[in-house]
Amino acid sequence: MRYGIISDIHSNLEALNLALDSLGHVDAIYCLGDVVGYGPNPNECCEIMRERQAIMVLGNHDAAVIGKIALDWFNPVARQAVEWTQGHLTDESRLFLESRPLVHRSEYFVMVHGSLRIPESFYYVGSPFEARPTFDSMAAFNLCFIGHTHIAECYVRKAGEKGGDQIEMTNGGTVDLKPGFQYIVNPGSVGQPRDGNAQAAFAIYDTDAQTVEIRRIDYPIPITQDKMRIAGLPDPLITRLEYGW
Ligand code: ZN
Repeated sequence: MRYGIISDIHSNLEALNLALDSLGHVDAIYCLGDVVGYGPNPNECCEIMRERQAIMVLGNHDAAVIGKIALDWFNPVARQAVEWTQGHLTDESRLFLESRPLVHRSEYFVMVHGSLRIPESFYYVGSPFEARPTFDSMAAFNLCFIGHTHIAECYVRKAGEKGGDQIEMTNGGTVDLKPGFQYIVNPGSVGQPRDGNAQAAFAIYDTDAQTVEIRRIDYPIPITQDKMRIAGLPDPLITRLEYGW
């Protein structure tokens, strides 16, 4: 099987469309949450996820937009974008987001937006120390996909051990999944990368080859930025797209 693993689309239709084109034929699309928030096309992105029958977990922005978590968690510009999204979300998009679980376990892997440590608290995994509770909660799975930080990277540890390594994957690359090891892979963000690379990020998991490829592609950032300006979304959210930060 060949699976597309995408995360943190954040209403960026241009990035999403090109990421899906780049995936080519896949047996399924898995989305690690945050389809909406920040960008100008929340409904179009939800619609594509529905049409492609993506298997998706709920992100913190998705949860905020449908009123499942309080807005106090968000900085002022993120909050402004959540409120803008709330004002533009269709009933179909809302229903789609409302029916997403926090954690999904497939045949081959487990997936969650932030961390398996209290999934509804949306903890960030940004270091081997922060990765540990997720490793410890993976049970029989040797692979977990996470999003949330918008940073393409991988954590690996030998099964049964406590420590682990952090592998930077900012420019893409392939992880070989070896028996006897546990992996947490963050494919990075489709619609608002924050690892210094402005290209859209996503992953392809090949279950036969036991590889996860992280791929980066260009998308027309100025088109998304123009739409955001017209929508009146906050300037810092518009400029950050071209820096990938
Ligand atoms: Zn996000």
